[in-house]
Amino acid sequence: MHRQRCTRIIATLGPASSTVDVIRELSDAGADVFRLNMSHGTYSDISQIHSAIRKVESNTGRAIGILADLQGPKLRVGVFEGDQVELVQGKEFILDMEDKPGTQKRVQLPHPEIYQAVEKGTDLLLDDGKIRLNIKKVEDNRIITTISVGGIISNRKGVNVPSAILPMAALTVKDKKDLDFVLNLGVDWVGLSFVQRPEDVQEAINIIGDQAKVLAKLEKPAALYALDEIIALSDAVMVARGDMGVELPMEEVPAKQKKIIRHARRVGKPVVVATQMMESMILSPVPTRAEVSDVANAVFDGTDAIMLSAETATGQYPVEAVSYMDRIAKTVEREPSYRKAQRMEETLQDPTSADALSAAAKQIADTLETAVIVTYTTSGSTAIRAARGRPKTPLLVLTPNQSTARRLTIVWGLNCVHTEDATNFQDMIDKACHISAKYNFAGLKERIVITAGMPFGSPGKTNVIRVARIQSYHEE
Ligand code: PGA
Ligand code: MN
Repeated sequence: MHRQRCTRIIATLGPASSTVDVIRELSDAGADVFRLNMSHGTYSDISQIHSAIRKVESNTGRAIGILADLQGPKLRVGVFEGDQVELVQGKEFILDMEDKPGTQKRVQLPHPEIYQAVEKGTDLLLDDGKIRLNIKKVEDNRIITTISVGGIISNRKGVNVPSAILPMAALTVKDKKDLDFVLNLGVDWVGLSFVQRPEDVQEAINIIGDQAKVLAKLEKPAALYALDEIIALSDAVMVARGDMGVELPMEEVPAKQKKIIRHARRVGKPVVVATQMMESMILSPVPTRAEVSDVANAVFDGTDAIMLSAETATGQYPVEAVSYMDRIAKTVEREPSYRKAQRMEETLQDPTSADALSAAAKQIADTLETAVIVTYTTSGSTAIRAARGRPKTPLLVLTPNQSTARRLTIVWGLNCVHTEDATNFQDMIDKACHISAKYNFAGLKERIVITAGMPFGSPGKTNVIRVARIQSYHEE
């Protein structure tokens, strides 16, 4: 139950990792959350993976989070004669709405919104930024460009327009269909790709309601201009370094990573660092030293979770990739400088009882050197506030809601147990002691701190704090 690690690991599932056996191995190796990438796979693949995850969850008894990541408005060119052509630097190239195979002179760009959103001088980046086009002239449904960086381009490659805010909704027709599908399946988190404005997040929340939590992927420069509003509206955010490194000069991404983590942590929203963390492990059983350093630095930055994409979805060493992340995170977290860095990041409490009691519990735990802080929570919000303070004492979360336990798997340091709510004050203490001992968070005679909300049995504010001692699983 106890991971001995506070930073959480998200593993993307795909062809390399879709069976119950592999998912079980990934979970045992340290994966806390599994990501379903809605850009790939059929609905039948996705429901099979989904039920495999839930099977592993019931076999291990540990709550597992599922993140369904929507594709979002990713622009793509059409197809080419012979599937690919070479674009030559200095030559003219036209993007238009004509539904016929592309050549060295033109190709279809079937997104009408883009033709109004760009102007002379705008750069278009193709195929993850490998090819660059500079716009000379925009006509009705035709963009005439000069090829400033050429190369081979093949069918349906992506197009990024970093400098423009595109008048496109964050949820495409495909996303809405996918969203409907995954909400029926039952997922804990929904990832929104290419969020540009706070309204994009709001639109998703309006559809999702309380069926899942919403994670906004920060990969567009426009989103970074509205960073604080987007963080405020979202339940969590992701530093989506893959597309961000195309939309921005990639050397700017590390500073953005630190800034996003700082802003998200200040307001207590979970934050995920993603993409190319262990990229070489797609083909190699060991990471590069630079990758080890990158994962370690994300942990030092104080991120809640680190993510694997192709490494676990299609790579040859999915379990090894998770194991390395697990080892790196554990090692960093044992460093005294890690704890010190986390403390320095501490910020003021909001004037709420959840914050006041979380801060008090942390203080009591430090003074009495208690074995664990036990938090009763229904919605999960008190637990997230407790994690925001990054206490050095382990956090055990007791919740009567299975979906809360699953949703909290993405959050730094939270160990969740799905259990019935306490029925009275003594029961609150007994349950906390019993579960702390059962899962080895506390040994005999050790003290624990408990926070809860009274009256019991109904969701409400955290308003009780109690110190107890483990007495052969009973309170003194
Ligand atoms: P993606 O998002 O893998 O869905 O593109 C993450 C990223 O862009 O980094
Ligand atoms: Mn992306």
